[in-house]
This record gives sequence, C-alpha cells and structure tokens, in this order.
Amino acid sequence: MDRDSVEELVSLEAVQRLVLSSCLPLGPIEIGLSDALGFVLAEDVRALEDLPPFSNTAMDGYAVRADDTASAPVELSVIGVLPAGAAPAQAVGPGTAVQIMTGAPMPPGADGIAIVERTEPGSSDSKVRILDRVSPGAYVRPAGSDLRRGDLAVAAGTVIGPAHIGLLASVDATRITVHARPSVGVLSTGDELVGGTVPLELGQIRDSNRQGLLASLQRDGFVGIDLGVRPDDEEAISAGIREGVECCDALLTSGGVSMGEFDFVKVVLERLVAEVGGQVHQFKLAIKPAKPLSFAAVATPGGRLVPVFGLPGNPVSSMVSYQVVALPALRKLAGHHSPLPRRIPAVAADDLERRPDGKLHLLRVIAAMGADGHIVVRSAGGQGSHQLAALAASNALALVPDGLGVTTGGDVQILLTGSLE
Ligand code: AMP
Ligand code: MG
Repeated sequence: MDRDSVEELVSLEAVQRLVLSSCLPLGPIEIGLSDALGFVLAEDVRALEDLPPFSNTAMDGYAVRADDTASAPVELSVIGVLPAGAAPAQAVGPGTAVQIMTGAPMPPGADGIAIVERTEPGSSDSKVRILDRVSPGAYVRPAGSDLRRGDLAVAAGTVIGPAHIGLLASVDATRITVHARPSVGVLSTGDELVGGTVPLELGQIRDSNRQGLLASLQRDGFVGIDLGVRPDDEEAISAGIREGVECCDALLTSGGVSMGEFDFVKVVLERLVAEVGGQVHQFKLAIKPAKPLSFAAVATPGGRLVPVFGLPGNPVSSMVSYQVVALPALRKLAGHHSPLPRRIPAVAADDLERRPDGKLHLLRVIAAMGADGHIVVRSAGGQGSHQLAALAASNALALVPDGLGVTTGGDVQILLTGSLE
C-alpha cells in the first residue's frame, strides 16, 4: 500500500456517475445537413418522401410483362428506350418490351426486368430475344422499399455519420435538430511552463497538456478553445477559470490539483462555487495514473452549470483523466446516450505487472488483433505518469485491477483510445 489509505480513495465508477449526473445535454439547435457530421441527433427524423420515390429497375435490361416470358426463350418487340432520369413515354403491352437502364422508372404495364446479360438480338432491329423466364417483380425496386414516407429515418441519439447524411438527403430532410457541440476551454497552470520555441531555463518545461488536450477535443468532435497558460498565482488562475466559465460550455484545466503548496486550482474552484453557486468536489480517484481531480459545476448568471475539470498536471495523468472522466461528461453534453467508454475484452500478450495499492491501474498498451480473433495487448513502454512516449505509442488503456497484475495469456479489459492495429 502507498500512503493513501484506501478509504479516502473514490472509485472511478463513482466519480463518473457523479460527474455525469451534473452534466446535461446542450440545448437543441437546427443545422443544415452539410454541417451535421458528428453531431448527435436531438429529435427523430422521419422520411418526408418514399425512398425510392418511384418503382424502378435495379439492372440494365428490358422491362417486360412477366406473363409474356412464361415460355422463354421468347421474342418481344422493343417499343422504346428508357434511360435513368426519363419518365416512361409508353406502356408495355402484350408482346412488347422497353429497353431500360438502372434507376429508370418501371413503365406502366411492365412488372419485371429481363437483365441484358440474359438477352440476345432478335430477328430484326426492333426485336429482342429474352432467354429466361422473368418472375413478377424481378429486379424491380418498388417505391418506398427502403423507407416509406413517414417512416423513422434516423432516431434521436444517433451520432450522425456519412450514411445518415446520405439517407437524410435522399428523403429531403435537409435541416435537422441536433445537440449543440460543446465548446471547451483548455487552460494550463504552472510557473514552470513555457510555450513557443524558446530555450529552456533550468526548472522550466514545455507546456504539453494544452496541446494534447486541445487535440483530444478536436478528435472527439468538440470545439476546443485555447485559454493559454497561467502561472501558479491564485489571482491569475481565478481570472482564467472565470473567463473559461463565461465563454465555454465546459472547461479543462491542468495542474494545481494535488497536495503542493502552489496548487491553486482547488482553492479557486472552492471560492468560485462559494461565490456564484454550484458544486465542487476534490477527488482522490482509486486509479493510477491520474489520482487527484477537482470537479466543479459552476453556476452562471444564465442559469447554466458549467462543468470544470481540474485535471492533474502530469502529462499522462491529464490525458488519461480526460479520457475516463472528462470525455464521458463532454459526450453527455453533446447528447450521446451512452457516454461512457466501452470496455472491451482482451488477452495479455505479455505480463502486465503491478503492485497492490488499492487502485485500478490504467496501463498504456498496444492492442492488436491476434491470430485467433482475440484482441491481444502488450505494454507500450514506461508507465510513469510523466512518460508521454508510451502514451503516444499506445492505442488503448488496459484496466488492471488491484493485485499483482495479469500474466501472459490472462484476460484483461481495455479502453480503446486509438484505432485497432
Ligand atoms: P501539478 O499537478 O501542477 O503538481 O504538476 C504535476 C507535474 O506535471 C509537474 O511535474 C509539472 O511540471 C507537470 N505539468 C504540469 N502542467 C503541465 C503541462 N501543461 N505540460 C507539461 N507538464 C505539466
Ligand atoms: Mg503545478
């Protein structure tokens, strides 16, 4: 055991629950379809038209009366040619056919398609020989066979992808109601931080959390707002957090939430909530990395509650606590119905060692598809909370419960943070 008593640590699940319960989906907005990718639909969308809008052919060939082909091979008179986009000029009567291209409307009288591959030239230019019997409905796509007018096209809660946009466009649903996308401020704190390509003085480091968190927000479909770096000064941090709460739907800070003398984020959040209302929590999560975390839901004059995540400063900790605590909350703001990350079963390809300490360890691992169809994981490198290299090399976090770890071949659950190799 390390010096934290297990009692004062709170489980990741409890923190996720509490944080999610203080976040509400952002109000609905109406947007055009071309802007809708990645938004969460706030209201069901129904088809305004039948899809397809008219009965049409699925293949190039000849529109025929199925009855006429009962004793195939048969010869029929070709009375016209119908390309896609044209309306039929004449009906198909007994003994006749219309040459037809994929997507063209079925001419009246015809009830099946003889595909061109199963036809031959007839005894004259205006005749065609149909080789096989055509069944009624063959290669015909009836009106409304994809969606009928009034059918549910896309349900509320759906994350709009390219196929949804195509579907909605095809039923003329060109404006849709979605949850607004959260704009999220990102603020780094620390006297040691420098931005830009200046030489480092002893004691200084480059600010990596802001860049990493802004990129995470971009990847996850939120609007990141760069609020810069603040020194370890209560006034400066207070001004930064107030600015963030005013301008954003949520705020991420990093640094200043542990037990150090200059950890002002905690203090500032306590004072701010005491002044304007809301709630504030200082957590010690039973996870490694990313034990300390401040969370506040800060009341605004407009009656909103702005979630503020005081993430720990260590670079791996800030990214991991974003992933497991802030991201689910932001997904809830964005309207996702299942905001928590999915735990996926995997198998350890190497020993994933650890010591008992009352915490869930989130190891940076490389996950890949194994030959037997299972996902296999191996360590991505040094697991220190300052070791960004292994985080960068990883595409998953392995959830290794308290104990001595998982031995090679053992089961382990993972959270994917990148795409599977
Ligand atoms: P803190 O949480 O403020 O005690 O910081 C913990 C560790 O994370 C210290 O080594 C800090 O220098 C480092 N750190 C804090 N903020 C950042 C940042 N924005 N980028 C890189 N490292 C940071
Ligand atoms: Mg600090």
